[in-house]
Amino acid sequence: MEKGAIIKHDQDKAPKTGDWRYLKPEIDASKCIGCQTCVPHCPEAVMEMRKRIETEIAAGVEPGKEKKIVEIDFEYCKGCGVCTQVCPVKAIVMKK
Ligand code: SF4
Ligand code: SF4
Repeated sequence: MEKGAIIKHDQDKAPKTGDWRYLKPEIDASKCIGCQTCVPHCPEAVMEMRKRIETEIAAGVEPGKEKKIVEIDFEYCKGCGVCTQVCPVKAIVMKK
């Protein structure tokens, strides 16, 4: 493979990991600053930024305001923990 090459994921061919994942990443919405650092580092490409309003995430947003936080597709997340290592504010923790 060429140096610096980008591997593209074909989600349709990816195995679902939801049943055998040992640890699950949990996002603290009040800590997430929406920097998107974790998104390109996820080896399964299952992290996506979504807009949430304050009533949906309960913390870290002024009333009536929106906040972009990361969401994980747990059907495909394999629980590797890479996202927890790259988050600059430690907004993701691995839980059983
Ligand atoms: S634990 Fe691994 S596969 Fe799951 S969201 Fe984090 S980086 Fe992606
Ligand atoms: S790296 Fe951390 S702060 Fe940045 S979007 Fe991901 S969870 Fe949020």
